[in-house]
Amino acid sequence: QDTRALVESRLAVIPDFPEPGVLFRDLTPVFADGEAFHALAGALTAPFAGRFDVLAGVEARGFLLAAAASVAAGVGVLPIRKAGKLPRAVLTEAYALEYGTAALEVHEGELPPGTRVLVVDDVLATGGTVGAAARLVERAGWKVAGVSVAIELDGLGGRAALPDTFETYSLLQY
Ligand code: IMP
Repeated sequence: QDTRALVESRLAVIPDFPEPGVLFRDLTPVFADGEAFHALAGALTAPFAGRFDVLAGVEARGFLLAAAASVAAGVGVLPIRKAGKLPRAVLTEAYALEYGTAALEVHEGELPPGTRVLVVDDVLATGGTVGAAARLVERAGWKVAGVSVAIELDGLGGRAALPDTFETYSLLQY
């Protein structure tokens, strides 16, 4: 409860970004505050304690959260990158954007088969992004331990769009 209030007190809310009508939740002031960032990193893994082996962060804001949380939890981190950035053989998953599509990638064979991967990102909106990340984890032969995000935007149906084969956690809901 304290973590929720602390993170929320640092969150910036920007109307009409990146386009008119969108209310953008900006976590950069949370990242810049040591106490809030530390508390947020811990809150993302606490509900999954003992149930994950590694964290996966989605480029780019998910990298910050997953890296901080993985160091705090004493586990490794798997970068899930935008298409075209990883140098070795990759698996690719496309997902829908408001206009068009994008794709995420991981190195195949980066983790042993059956590794339990907790997927971390900053915001769950329509669920397209973390959904693609979860599919990559499954296709790579690992197990999705869950999805954990700082902020869930309730009105966009992200939670319903995700499979119910894993648990989805959000610290804050709007
Ligand atoms: P989704 O794929 O529709 O669930 O959108 C989630 C992705 O869009 C996340 O990777 C976020 O970084 C980004 N995103 C969507 N809305 C916001 C916002 O209000 N603030 C920050 N990022 C957002």
